[in-house]
Amino acid sequence: MSAAARAAAIQLIARKTPVAAEVSPRTPLPELFGANVFGLDQMRSRLSENAYKALRSCMEHGQELDSALADQVANAMKEWATERGATHFTHWFQPMTGSTAEKHDSFANLENGELLMEFSGKALIKGEPDASSFPSGGLRATFEARGYTAWDPTSPAFLRETLNGSTLCIPTAFCSWTGEALDEKTPLLRSTEALNREAVRLLRLLGDAKVQFVYPTLGCEQEYFLIDRDLYVLRPDLIATGRTLFGAKPPKGQELEDHYFGSIAPRVLAFMQEVELELWKLGVPVKTRHNEVAPSQYELAPIFERTTIAIDHNMLCMEVLKQVAQRHGFQCLLHEKPYSGINGSGKHNNWSMATDTGENLLEPGKSPSENMRFVVMLAAVMRAVDLHADLMRVTIAHAGHDHRLGANEAPPAILSIYLGEQLTDIVDALIAGTKGGERKKDTMRLGVSVLPSLPRDATDRNRTSPFAFTGHKFEFRAVGSSQACGKPNTVLNTIVAESLSYIAGEIEKLKGQKGLEAAVNDVVVDLFKKHQRILFNGNGYSAEWHAEAERRGLPNFRNAVDAIGNFNSPKNVALFESFAVLSSKETESRMNIMFEAYCKAIAIEGQSALSLGRTMILPAAQRAQLAVAQSVGAAKACGIDVKVQERRLREMSARIEAFVLAIEDLTTCFEHAEHHAGAPHEHAKTYRDKVIPAMQKVREIADSLETMVDDGEWPLPKSREMLFLQ
Ligand code: ADP
Ligand code: MG
Repeated sequence: MSAAARAAAIQLIARKTPVAAEVSPRTPLPELFGANVFGLDQMRSRLSENAYKALRSCMEHGQELDSALADQVANAMKEWATERGATHFTHWFQPMTGSTAEKHDSFANLENGELLMEFSGKALIKGEPDASSFPSGGLRATFEARGYTAWDPTSPAFLRETLNGSTLCIPTAFCSWTGEALDEKTPLLRSTEALNREAVRLLRLLGDAKVQFVYPTLGCEQEYFLIDRDLYVLRPDLIATGRTLFGAKPPKGQELEDHYFGSIAPRVLAFMQEVELELWKLGVPVKTRHNEVAPSQYELAPIFERTTIAIDHNMLCMEVLKQVAQRHGFQCLLHEKPYSGINGSGKHNNWSMATDTGENLLEPGKSPSENMRFVVMLAAVMRAVDLHADLMRVTIAHAGHDHRLGANEAPPAILSIYLGEQLTDIVDALIAGTKGGERKKDTMRLGVSVLPSLPRDATDRNRTSPFAFTGHKFEFRAVGSSQACGKPNTVLNTIVAESLSYIAGEIEKLKGQKGLEAAVNDVVVDLFKKHQRILFNGNGYSAEWHAEAERRGLPNFRNAVDAIGNFNSPKNVALFESFAVLSSKETESRMNIMFEAYCKAIAIEGQSALSLGRTMILPAAQRAQLAVAQSVGAAKACGIDVKVQERRLREMSARIEAFVLAIEDLTTCFEHAEHHAGAPHEHAKTYRDKVIPAMQKVREIADSLETMVDDGEWPLPKSREMLFLQ
């Protein structure tokens, strides 16, 4: 039955053609861009001048709205949305599930039997979804389960248009009644505030009187796979887990490197274009599209924005990719490793800091004072990453990502910083400068020397580095494709804030006796010396680097379970508490949620592997065994010598026997893991050490059976079909 479905799906794909977009591609882009956003233009035209000014100030500084202003804003939003056909609104938030959540309410209200469309400031500012089923990691008992959502005015409301109506979405934070963060956004906002405070303090110290606030910026490059949906629906493993749990290596993979930057297939291009039209309407500034390295793998990148908005936009982007894919007969796979044996997907997290005066703090300057600022920022990032590599590693740790991080592709699991040759030379020269003119030619002092201008070209980029300086930003390349970027950026902001605070403190101590420039120079050089070990420009995949990193004392957490356990170490708890980003309770609950998510992911994989193994693969293999046995028997009955075929039959039977044993073993391991929960960390270890190896064994044998069984009997779409048919 299912082998026939596979054949039918392939027939269908052969006849598919590109699908036209629902939005007219003739609309000029400037008209389309942000059309569904309640943006500054809308606010200006629909609010009184005072209200507009007050709202802008709240948006820029992350302040709370007072209730009179909230009423005005809510009313304006409602008018705007209902004119565009909206009937409902929703608070749109990011619980700790890695995705977004929404619960819709209509604007409709009955007054004396008459229907009124209403939206109050109260409803705008605060929502009370009965959201008791979201993970809280022990923060809430069920009797106090209610959480509330609160509008984040730094992120604009937008309209989602769907086939049968439109919904006004209001980006919100999600907290418990006792004020604990139950989402990814609240800590992000807190970390943004910490970064702002510490950066402004340091800039003042460096003599900058103009900058009023500093905010982090982010551009997420999003990788994804597409698979034809008719094949996807025949893969229960992809549906349940996001990745293929079985599948022999295809004869052709990515070795020809003919897909990377190749011309984009027409059906795929039509899909990408519609994704972009949808995203532009939502104000998401997508810019770049291209084929990635693996077959059927693609990338989309936006223009960078303020981090809080960029993250909302990346969440929207993932949603739109998935939804539009279905219209085009595709399924979009965001999992880090949908197929073994070829590259997985990541999300380069391009991070920097910008000022309200329009400057990028990671832009190497042209004057000595700008250079001084840049080098101080560089030292802050170096110190932050070196001291908190463990914490950065946690933010990218989850079950799906273990197939990628450190697994000989994408970035290694060891955190290090790539600066490139020229910047490394500058660091070296600054360090040498303290040695009293020993290497006169190379020495330089901050605030005095002009740094050589840095190259902006892409040639010397090191693809193997997890954290690379790329001209005017740091690129955290080890973030997973399916991940929400809240955690990685919350941590980046916090650890850099802490370093900025440390640096400010040190400069304050030395400034009086030495003067500013010498003080800055001393502090920076000291940090370069202390944290130089985090710099690495070489090949991050090589065995030599692993040995070298160990010698340098850099941590190497090989898998998610090892990494996650560090989240609530005393150092990390103290860090989050002192910058008011997470309380110790919040930190612990987040760690528990990460462990829980890990266990659940592996449990679902284990169950899927068992179900596919028992009910699809084993029967197919047994049917094949029967057919070969009958054929061999019939030939022998005719007196024909079929020794070689008999040997092959025996081989097939032996593999089937081994397969049944492996399934039994996985069943035992899985049941053991299910029934011996224990503490979250221990539970996760059981899944990692028992269930995963047993699952791998099952897969290995299944994949070898795939290469033996009659192709016409094989029930699951094969790798060569999933990767190459579209
Ligand atoms: P690359 O070739 O290094 O990937 P791009 O210039 O194409 O460089 O940028 C990749 C991503 O980095 C884009 O999303 C871009 O908007 C983003 N980016 C550029 N400058 C910054 C910045 N100052 N802060 C954050 N992200 C940035
Ligand atoms: Mg990049």
